[in-house]
Amino acid sequence: MTTFSHEVRSELARIIAGDSCCQLAELTALLRANGEVLISSDGVSAGFTTENASVARKVFTLVKATTGLVAAVMVSRSRKLRRKNRYQVRVPLAGREGGLFDRLGISPVGRSENGEPIRRHCCKKAYLRGAFLGGGTVGRPESNYHLEISVRDENFAGSVVRVMKSMGITARYIMKGEEVYVVYLKAFEKIDKFLCLCGASDAVLRLQSCKVSREMRGAVNRLVNCESYNAERTLTAGYRQLQKIEAIIAAGCWQKLPAELQDTASLRLSHPEASLTELLTRAGGRVSKSLLNYRLRKIEQFADRL
Ligand SMILES: [Zn+2]
Repeated sequence: MTTFSHEVRSELARIIAGDSCCQLAELTALLRANGEVLISSDGVSAGFTTENASVARKVFTLVKATTGLVAAVMVSRSRKLRRKNRYQVRVPLAGREGGLFDRLGISPVGRSENGEPIRRHCCKKAYLRGAFLGGGTVGRPESNYHLEISVRDENFAGSVVRVMKSMGITARYIMKGEEVYVVYLKAFEKIDKFLCLCGASDAVLRLQSCKVSREMRGAVNRLVNCESYNAERTLTAGYRQLQKIEAIIAAGCWQKLPAELQDTASLRLSHPEASLTELLTRAGGRVSKSLLNYRLRKIEQFADRL
């Protein structure tokens, strides 16, 4: 079963920004969210691992577009039970022809805050998209509103929160275990806005239609609850009146009731479960609703005085 997270990632992975400023911003966020430094016999490289083939493809494309470097892609089977494919994209960080560091002029991985601030509106969107593709998950909108981005670098978590804030989304981050920082959004409006900025229009549609059906379900539930509450109330009132009438009879005071109250009491005795409206119909429209209600109250007061 594909999760909502998977759908959102696949949708976002298909978007390739046209401007190189945005491509760079997105690649920076991707690598800072989920990149690691790999040291092997080939030298030092930046590694990006994902289970989503289209995200791996995107990293490859962005590396090529921004630096001209051709990244290596390795596929392996996860040792976990689900046995999904894992894709690792490797980009040399430094080398004879110049690696990522040299080409970008920044350090997209590691804990330093060397990356230049993201200022342009277009780049901010791409940056947030990259952050989500690097470490984001989002709950099924049918069950809850929760979006989070897990990253390994606290500076980057802070930077994502700042960029979100500058776009009108208030987010927080918490430390979750060693070297895991989680930026999270918990309200519909924030998640809606975030996905919208990232360009996930299919996801936004699903989110919004879920909200409508959730609200509808809520309204229906409230209505049902309200109706059963009213039914319960009628039942309680009817039985309370029945008990009082029986008490009047048991006390031998029936004859002391004025004739019109006897009429009403007989009516209630024959229909203990009827609501006031139903009782009114049984009375054959001889009295008004308020008069009937008044008489029932009088009967109860009569019983209370016994
Ligand atoms: Zn841009």
